[in-house]
Amino acid sequence: MTAFTLRTRPVPGLGLAAIGPEEEALVLDVLRSKALFRYASLDPATPPAMTARLEKEFRDYIGTDYALAVTSGSGALEVAMAAAGIGPGDEVIVTAWSWVACFTSIVRVGAKPVLAEIDDSLNLDPSEIARLTTPRTRAVLVIHYQGAPADMLRIQHEAHRRGLFVIEDCAQSIGSSYRGRKVGTWSDIATFSFQANKTMTSGEGGMVVTRDGWLYERAVRFHDLGNYRSYHAAIQPARGEAFAGGQFRMSELTAAVALAQLRKLDGLRAHCRGLRARIVPRVTGLAGITLRRSADDEGDFGFELYLFLKDVATAATFREKLDARNVNCGARTGTYPQYHRDYVKNGRAHAPSASPFRGIEPWPAPGYRAEDFPRTEEITKRFVAIPLGWLYTADDADYIADGIVAVHAAMTAAGQI
Ligand SMILES: *Cc1c(COP(=O)(O)O)cnc(C)c1O
Repeated sequence: MTAFTLRTRPVPGLGLAAIGPEEEALVLDVLRSKALFRYASLDPATPPAMTARLEKEFRDYIGTDYALAVTSGSGALEVAMAAAGIGPGDEVIVTAWSWVACFTSIVRVGAKPVLAEIDDSLNLDPSEIARLTTPRTRAVLVIHYQGAPADMLRIQHEAHRRGLFVIEDCAQSIGSSYRGRKVGTWSDIATFSFQANKTMTSGEGGMVVTRDGWLYERAVRFHDLGNYRSYHAAIQPARGEAFAGGQFRMSELTAAVALAQLRKLDGLRAHCRGLRARIVPRVTGLAGITLRRSADDEGDFGFELYLFLKDVATAATFREKLDARNVNCGARTGTYPQYHRDYVKNGRAHAPSASPFRGIEPWPAPGYRAEDFPRTEEITKRFVAIPLGWLYTADDADYIADGIVAVHAAMTAAGQI
């Protein structure tokens, strides 16, 4: 086999790598129409259609009732929490192992993030909901980490019996599913991101979906300065009143790229799952290696494979040896625990009075320090993450599998595993 370029080849985000004439054509349509703002065009006879079409196709793709396009995945989280009426004095349970925005969006709406442990699926351990719920808890924010669904049946059960909202953050798992239904349909309200690293992208962008017309109306209002324009009223008649909202509206140009990308998502998933299917059987059962546990393996998008070794040192050696064979792998995927981030260590918001942690002494308090998360610490330090991209071929997948098998054999022979 040739020593090809897995290492030297750039590994762009899945959707980014798949950009082509389809995106160009839709962007040109928008430019030629000169209708860049979704709610107005130069010619009233032809209202802007791109964001509206994206919402409709996205809603149908996910299998839900309402979809609202927004400016980003972080914005989508703020919109979802605002729609649910979450604010100062409320607590939201979220995994310590999650993206920056999962924590900061809770702080931005004035609520207090309460950090939970993950389990060996790298997603929320559902039993954490019982441990962390207080009279102030309003919601559980669930992240489907890197393409693989969280255990939504157990999470829904634990959350709903306590009267908590479930919010799914599907930013890393657009197109993934759980028990035959897309992620984003397993909660009261769900969010997506189209940022450049995601499975589909428009550079920046996001989506909020729900089956609840009331949450939809509130999401629309919060994303558009409190407005509820006729376009949305035709979908769901207004029931509530205006309130002060933010501005998270999607541009028609963004929607054009996102729409072309959405139409490619199933192809991207089939490609990734095909690569993964060449590797998994070859590495399953190797003594000393376990694969990431999955709440539903069929629903995994398949763009990243996780191998767990027995300890930190063994994982580091394994990575070094794979790396020497030109196999792209990592110890981290951009995520690291919230309690290691500066805004958690100092407990600050944009103004002292806006911090949900003000007055808590000493800070960081229990629940916000590494020593409070022994399982998250242990689990996240001994994996090897192997990305599988749009540019990878079947030969590349075989080369990765060969590399894993060879490194495993060499380390076993050396007594290192
Ligand atoms: C990327 C990401 C976000 C934020 O999305 P942006 O579009 O970058 O704002 C939120 N949550 C998770 C889990 C993410 O991976």
